[in-house]
Amino acid sequence: MSSVEDALENARLTYEQHMRTCRQCHADAAPCAVSKHLLRLYNIARRDRMRALGRQAPTA
Ligand SMILES: [Zn+2]
Repeated sequence: MSSVEDALENARLTYEQHMRTCRQCHADAAPCAVSKHLLRLYNIARRDRMRALGRQAPTA
């Protein structure tokens, strides 16, 4: 697995784990500041991965 894949997976797991465990996100309809931060990191990781994939020949 490449490093961008690892980064994306890590960001996703961290975000999902927060959503499962954060009381503030559950108490409120709106996501808390930490959640927004983690989601932003996830989006950045996803964009980095897209960019990395774009440099390679699309095989899948
Ligand atoms: Zn939260």
